[in-house]
Amino acid sequence: MSMARPLIAGNWKMNGLARSLDEARALAAALDSHPAGCRVALCPPSTLIHRMAEVLGGTSVEIGGQDCRAEAGGAFTGDVSADMLVDAGAALVILGHSERRTAYGESDGQVRAKTSAALAAGLEPIVCVGETLAQREAGDALTVVTAQVRGSLPEDIAGKAFSVAYEPVWAIGTGLTPSLEQIEEIHTAIRATLVELFGAAGEAPTILYGGSVKPSNAGEILKVRDVGGALVGGASLKADDFLGIIKAA
Ligand code: PEP
Repeated sequence: MSMARPLIAGNWKMNGLARSLDEARALAAALDSHPAGCRVALCPPSTLIHRMAEVLGGTSVEIGGQDCRAEAGGAFTGDVSADMLVDAGAALVILGHSERRTAYGESDGQVRAKTSAALAAGLEPIVCVGETLAQREAGDALTVVTAQVRGSLPEDIAGKAFSVAYEPVWAIGTGLTPSLEQIEEIHTAIRATLVELFGAAGEAPTILYGGSVKPSNAGEILKVRDVGGALVGGASLKADDFLGIIKAA
């Protein structure tokens, strides 16, 4: 079981304009007066990373990107590299989110290459895995998720700081969540896979749960064995909701 401090990371997805930085400001101010017992990160769209880094400079809130390209630079219109995220002020990056796997057909191999690039740039990757509803109903959740873990993590990640986020696709943005037993079963299997891949170093990475986490269910989810934090979408957009989750950690 990881001894790392829990991590609560907010994924703003394609949401956020300059005025949304007020939420980041409010979050940092609240954590300044009542420090959290966990690490807290916000992952805004790339356009806001630099300005958010200015707003959050000197506070405890870390900043992450939502994706990066595997290549260091070149003719890749619209993409950002890992170095660009670092340059803008990010310390973490979400990789292999199911929305990217679905919308852009990202394979485990691509996620693995992006993860290597992120590590080389000094970013802490949050690598997402998770089954679809059809896969769960077919009884394949464990096989699918553990295969994604094996396929998405590069060998050179052993001993480095990273998290795996278990995000059942059917729970993202739907208000549905797996039972606590289902979460524990998958997190236990992810831990076993990390140990199988990396030996004792596989005990260290944090395993996050993501999918419709909100203040009302965060407490019970975060108590589940080997749940080391949460990746939060919708409920991270408003400082008050996000703080409700952070307080439960
Ligand atoms: C996510 O997309 O990473 C996520 C967990 O979304 P939500 O919390 O909105 O389900």
